[in-house]
Amino acid sequence: MPQDLDALIVGAGPAGLALGIALADGGFSATVLDAQPREALAAPDEDGRDIALTHASVATLRALGLWQRLRPEEIGCIREARVIDGDRQDCALSFSPRGHDTEVLGWIVPNHALRRASFAAAMERPALRLLDRAQVLRVATEPGHVQLDVQASPGLPQQLQGRLFVAADSRFSWSRKQLGIAADIHDFGRVMIVCRMQHELPHHDVAYECFGYERTLAVLPAVGNVSSVVVTADTAAAERLMQLSESEFAALVERQFRSRLGRMQLLGKRFPYPLVAAYARRFVGQRSALIGDAAVGMHPVTAHGYNLGLQSIASLVHALCEARAAQRDIGAAEVLAGYERAHRRDAAPIYHGTNAVARLYASTGAPQRLVRQLLLRGAQHLPPLKAAITARLTGRGGLQLPGAAA
Ligand SMILES: Cc1cc2nc3c(=O)[nH]c(=O)nc-3n(C[C@H](O)[C@H](O)[C@H](O)COP(=O)(O)OP(=O)(O)OC[C@H]3O[C@@H](n4cnc5c(N)ncnc54)[C@H](O)[C@@H]3O)c2cc1C
Repeated sequence: MPQDLDALIVGAGPAGLALGIALADGGFSATVLDAQPREALAAPDEDGRDIALTHASVATLRALGLWQRLRPEEIGCIREARVIDGDRQDCALSFSPRGHDTEVLGWIVPNHALRRASFAAAMERPALRLLDRAQVLRVATEPGHVQLDVQASPGLPQQLQGRLFVAADSRFSWSRKQLGIAADIHDFGRVMIVCRMQHELPHHDVAYECFGYERTLAVLPAVGNVSSVVVTADTAAAERLMQLSESEFAALVERQFRSRLGRMQLLGKRFPYPLVAAYARRFVGQRSALIGDAAVGMHPVTAHGYNLGLQSIASLVHALCEARAAQRDIGAAEVLAGYERAHRRDAAPIYHGTNAVARLYASTGAPQRLVRQLLLRGAQHLPPLKAAITARLTGRGGLQLPGAAA
């Protein structure tokens, strides 16, 4: 028999689970469906991604009880960020939290740890139900309700009914297509290789972004003498980098990094991610909304994908809580329009700005090199711009549930 739920969420990734938890804590009932088996969701495999998190994101994760579930050895801290341009040794642009009422620019946490913590916290909420191994066969968003036909594990419901449908099933979202929502997809033709490396010298919690001419290298501080290393190159070059032996790869990174951290050594596997960005033309449809990467799948160079995903959740939950307080239908078009406006305002500048940075730093022509130098030097000597970027990282905010202490 169909059950009448507040929200039906497809995708138990970090965004879908965080939304489910926020809704359960806000007094709504929700079911989250995922194609993966429960065991894989409970103990996700390492995927090489380390997620840099802003102050507002950490405030949201704390409010949802996820942050407290991370182990101390999983939480790295960024106290300064330096940008290096081309082959230069010195730093062209730097950020520190000085003058911003904190000593920390942001934190860095492995993606699989975030997923594990999200799953564990979700399983503690009685108002939140998980359907694993679930394949959604049909999404019907009607004026009065939403109905899903589902193929799930035996014994689990095959039909679900609710007031609101939410797509949280990645940047290649199947649900988004079912809702008839188009997305602008941009394939950068480049690949990001991520891995962890151990090094001789301490990193002092400094993050580096080295915009080389052949490839880009980011070195982000994890716990101890370990860093998360991100190498971005065009597809053919990335294939060659993946074929290098561990020691050849480590030597190449160490050379490009000018041995700032002494000898470097690979820890575990290298993971390649083809770089494809996605931006949905609409974030809402009839009784439906897109969140996380299903709404906006960012190029990772500015480390904002999940941060923006958490912002989408805060905006959607805010709209739904306001609707309920006013005794309105949470799936009503005017309610969802409020979410659409708020998230587009947050997402548009960061999405388009990130793509512009990614394109500029992927080009190697002489004019682009000059523009890069001018931009970085200009930004370094433009205190209001640096202060605005730092404020974005360290600014307070995040999810507010009614009745929760600020
Ligand atoms: C290399 C790399 C580095 C990154 N670094 C950062 C960073 O530093 N900071 C940051 O903020 N962000 C970063 N990101 C982005 C971040 O990882 C994503 O924004 C985040 O994982 C998106 O979460 P999500 O839940 O929306 O989607 P996903 O993590 O893609 O999860 C989607 C879920 O939906 C499920 N699913 C998919 N299709 C279906 C279906 N048809 N039916 C049912 N279930 C389905 C999947 O099994 C999965 O569980 C990075 C990304 C990459 C690739």
